[in-house]
Formats: sequence, structure tokens, C-alpha cells
Amino acid sequence: MQSQICNPDHCTGCMACLNICNSNSIKIKTGVTGHLYPYIDTSVCTDCGLCHKICPENTPLSLSAGSYAYAGWHKDPDNYKTSASGGAAAALSELIISRGGAVYGCVEEKGKIKHIRISDSKELHRFKGSKYVQSEIKEIYKPLLKDLREGRQVLFTGTPCQAAGLRSYLRKDYANLYIADLICHGVPSQKDLNDHIQQKCGTTDVDSIKFREGNTFCLSVKKGEQTLYRSLLWEERYSDSFFNAFIDGYNYRESCYHCRYACPDRVSDITIGDFWGLGDDIKADNKNGCSCIIPVTEKGKELLENIEDRFILHRRDIEEAIKGNDQLRAPMVMNRRIKIFRAIYPILGQSLSYKLLNADRIIKLRTKKSIKRL
Ligand SMILES: Cc1cc2nc3c(=O)[nH]c(=O)nc-3n(C[C@H](O)[C@H](O)[C@H](O)COP(=O)(O)OP(=O)(O)OC[C@H]3O[C@@H](n4cnc5c(N)ncnc54)[C@H](O)[C@@H]3O)c2cc1C
Repeated sequence: MQSQICNPDHCTGCMACLNICNSNSIKIKTGVTGHLYPYIDTSVCTDCGLCHKICPENTPLSLSAGSYAYAGWHKDPDNYKTSASGGAAAALSELIISRGGAVYGCVEEKGKIKHIRISDSKELHRFKGSKYVQSEIKEIYKPLLKDLREGRQVLFTGTPCQAAGLRSYLRKDYANLYIADLICHGVPSQKDLNDHIQQKCGTTDVDSIKFREGNTFCLSVKKGEQTLYRSLLWEERYSDSFFNAFIDGYNYRESCYHCRYACPDRVSDITIGDFWGLGDDIKADNKNGCSCIIPVTEKGKELLENIEDRFILHRRDIEEAIKGNDQLRAPMVMNRRIKIFRAIYPILGQSLSYKLLNADRIIKLRTKKSIKRL
């Protein structure tokens, strides 16, 4: 028998329940969109109620607003260029490792997006870059708690719902724990990505998948040195169905459309993202992208003070950050196109559903291009 931990439409897949359960009763199933959903296997459950109690959807956490933001980028050019935006996450990670600590974050390994622990600075490059898929958390909060109890400084980076999952699992604050969450507009599933790669490359046995090349959104798949597939988003708009569905908000987890963390109030010590809508006064200096950093707690502020030797920081009004970034105001709105996409997707699959839904836009764009060529 199965029973639910929270309303599946609101379940973020943070996996706090999986990590807290002592009786191995939490099992995982795959939903229609390919996202992972925990449930209770009642045949082994001891009815302790912990999973219900700590679930951040059942027991919401307190959130706090930052009162100012920073625009910034890494001083080291190589570090800057290889980061998703300005390299704020990289600078924070380097700081914690230099203090003998451990960093938990998201890597891509042979096409699989997952959270891992790193304590060696040589390995930190693996965290770099945004992977536009919900990263698999599994039972990663357990070794993190062990690190905390052993007195190590720990930095956790992840989506706001994962940050909430970790806080809920821990149930108390630890002075040696720093949490950095990303500004996030939603997460597609690993299954969706796998299906797409299979369709485009004829295999999912790949060595690497990248979602960004500097400031450019790009899906590129490699096997060894050979590029199996590469699509640049803005050059070929509507052509790659996975990436375009992500940008347009079609293929997110259901909970992303009700996300309680897509707002100015934050769940972590420090929030990082892209500084969209940055004023022209400093725009020209950051061609490879610019981080938006919002210190929320005293710990977040302390981290920032200590990366100033490696990171350029310009203080900005919080309103500027919020105005430029939709997901600092509200979750992605499920509009009519998204609703239809999600209704036909299980029957027609991602590629056909996306193309059908955007046929008018695709025709318009092609006509425009033909006229330009003429
Ligand atoms: C799914 C998703 C949606 C996003 N949406 C927005 C948005 O709407 N607006 C915005 O301003 N920024 C958004 N971002 C954040 C942005 O793309 C950058 O990841 C962020 O600015 C950090 O860049 P950086 O240069 O500091 O990081 P880097 O130094 O390049 O390091 C990347 C960091 O991101 C973490 N990370 C990467 N992929 C994931 C993942 N799938 N899940 C959890 N953590 C991950 C890594 O652990 C690492 O700490 C999103 C990121 C993701 C993954």
C-alpha cells in the first residue's frame, strides 16, 4: 500500500522525507513529467510521522528578505568565463574549501544531473555551470549532517526548494552551515532530458552535456571529443524542443508553478542568480555575465565580506534586482499554451507537443527570416 507525504502537486522533490526516514519506508516513483515523487510504503512504515512533520510543504519554513543586492563577477578570468554567470557560486565554494570545509552542489556526470560532496579544490570545477534539470538529491543530506556534526564548515548550493528540504531535514540551525540558493524559474526532469538526448543522438551513453557557453544558452552533447549535438537557443529559437520548452516554462515540475520561494523573501543565507536588468553604469564590464547576489542572513553577509579578494562586488538597490528577475517576484505562470502542452505531452511526447503548440511562432519566425534573406 502507498500513502502520500504531501499534496503531489506541491511536492518539490526536496527529498527531506527520504533522508529523515529511519525505516526505509520512503520509496520513489516517476511522475507523468518524469520528475521523482516520494511516497510511503505503508507495509514497512512504523508510523513515526516524521516525514509528514518535516515536509516543508506541510510545515512551511520562515523566509527572510534581503535589503540590498550586489552585482559582481569573479576576478580570475578563467574562473569567470567557465561559470554560469559571474561565478559567485564558485567564489563561495573556494572560500569554504580554503577553510577546510566541504561543499555540496550539483554536477553533470555522463549526462546525469546530481548533487555530490566535494572537499578538494581541484574538483570544484565540476560544480560550474547551470544544469537546467532537477538535480537528484538522493540521501545527500545525511553525509552533510555528519560533516556539520564533525565541526566542518559546509556550503550547500541548490534550488530554493532543495535549500528548504535541507533546512527542514536538519530541524535546527548550525553555525558552521551556509546555504546558498539559486534564483530559479523551474526544473525539467532528468527523464525529459534523457528522452531528448536519445532522440537527437540515438543514445544516452554520452560523456557530457552542457547547457550554457558563457552567457549563451546552448544545449551541447559530447562523447569524448566528438560533439554529438549542439543547438544555440537564440540563434535557432524554437528549434531545440527541450531547451525552448525550458525557457518558455512548459516542462517544469508541477510544484514550480506554485513555488513558495519565487519571491523576494528567501529561504537561504545568500541568494545567487543572473543580474538581469542591471543598470548601464556597470553593464559594459561584465561581458561573460553578471551574478546577482542577495545576502539575507548575517552568515550570508560574512561570506560576501570574505570573497572580496577574489570577487568584484558592486552594491545595488534590492529593487533593481527584483525588477529585473521575474522569479524574485513570483513563480512562472501556467498560461494557456503551457496547460495545453502538459495535457498533450503524455500522448505526443515533448518534441511534437512543443512544435504543435508553437506552430504559429515557428511559421512567423521562418517567414521573417525568408523575407530578410530576400
Ligand atoms: C534550473 C535552474 C533555473 C534557473 N533560473 C534562473 C532564473 O530564472 N533567474 C536567474 O537569475 N538565475 C537562474 N538560475 C541560476 C543561474 O543560471 C546560475 O546558476 C546562477 O547565477 C549561478 O551562477 P554562478 O556563475 O554563480 O555559478 P557557477 O560558479 O557556474 O556554479 C554553478 C552553481 O549552480 C549550482 N547548480 C547548477 N545546476 C543546478 C541544478 N540543476 N540544481 C541545483 N543547483 C545547481 C551548482 O551547484 C553551482 O553551485 C537558474 C539555475 C538553474 C539550475
